[in-house]
Amino acid sequence: MSLPLLPQLFMNFSVLVTLTFVLSLTYRSWPPPPGWHLKSLRLGLTLVSTVALHLLSPSLPGGIHLDLSLVPVVMMVLRYGVGSGLLIGLPAALLPLLAAGGDAAPMPGVALSLMNLLLVGGLTHLFRWTLDMSDPHGSLHRHAWVGALIFVPYNLGLALLPGGADLLQSTYLLTLAFHVLGFWAAASMITGRVSLLQSTDTYREQAHRDALSGLPNRRQFELDLPFTTPGDALLLIDVDHFKQVNDRFGHPVGDEVLRAIGEALAGTLRGRDRAYRYGGEEFAVILRRVSPERIEEVAHRLRELIAAIPFPAPLEHVTVSVGGAPFGPWSRTRTLWDADEALYRVKQEGRNGVRVNPFNPERPPVPERRARTTCLEQLNR
Ligand code: GH3
Ligand code: MG
Ligand code: MG
Repeated sequence: MSLPLLPQLFMNFSVLVTLTFVLSLTYRSWPPPPGWHLKSLRLGLTLVSTVALHLLSPSLPGGIHLDLSLVPVVMMVLRYGVGSGLLIGLPAALLPLLAAGGDAAPMPGVALSLMNLLLVGGLTHLFRWTLDMSDPHGSLHRHAWVGALIFVPYNLGLALLPGGADLLQSTYLLTLAFHVLGFWAAASMITGRVSLLQSTDTYREQAHRDALSGLPNRRQFELDLPFTTPGDALLLIDVDHFKQVNDRFGHPVGDEVLRAIGEALAGTLRGRDRAYRYGGEEFAVILRRVSPERIEEVAHRLRELIAAIPFPAPLEHVTVSVGGAPFGPWSRTRTLWDADEALYRVKQEGRNGVRVNPFNPERPPVPERRARTTCLEQLNR
């Protein structure tokens, strides 16, 4: 074994790890966004990596290089298929031709590189099904032993070159070990990053969704609220006498009612309209681009939809009260108050109804009478 080979391969390994880290930064969300931009960026970065790894290794007689430039190619074959991978590997393999200016001297090195590319790329393609980069739990441990297999043919072609057998014997095991280590490190970096993005996506989804009804929760409502514009509207929906449902039939039945209402609301809204579980037995709906006359119409439709949900006897049906208000050039808090006040009126007038409060600058935001009554009710409880 030639002694300088160890530091040379170690330097190649360090460059590979650095460039793979840069590549891993292109994974910013999971599932990946559609489009060709990210794919082109990754293929471009991989091309730079293969060429850099090739150039940063010393050239032996005949234009032969011992480098790790096939590792990024293998990663691309796994991610984007054998066609993309081989295409990205070609420039580094043909590079000695350019450097020699058409001289026949580097031909053995080029032939060897092409052979390596085809054999390792082809083997990777065969083992692609075992290495899914987006499945960190299932495949990471396999990267080590599959890595050992796919790099086995690397440089075996040296045996066919005059005097190549000695070079092969003295370098084979060390280069194989570095390829396996480099592949494992690179795959771990990408897979680790994908795994982190997948967990973040899952936790973000869980943090913004209500587990019982399946609807976006209050936190999501507060995130969406600033994006409402004049012409949108808010509906607040409160289940009538829900406490009695719990008291008479038990909390599991109450839960089932909330789940069914969530399902009905999610199933009926279209476009950018969105329903939320606002609180215990209260739901909110943000309607987009809705004319003032249509707000009440939609509110009635939702009320009727919920009243029609069949539950097993003796519950059979539940009713809801709906309060609504439009968004406008006034504050969104004002819309919330107006919708809440409308809901309160429906409750007072007997429940199972709809009321929409159009914006009225004369009406105080929180009617004093309402504020006083609520305080008294709370004190009397
Ligand atoms: P009103 O017609 O005036 O709205 O009367 P109500 O009984 O619906 O209103 P109240 O605020 O008195 O009671 C709401 C009840 O909703 C009390 C609470 O136990 C119940 N609740 C809140 N969240 C849940 C839940 O997740 N599951 C169940 N089963 N009940 C819930
Ligand atoms: Mg309530
Ligand atoms: Mg209620």
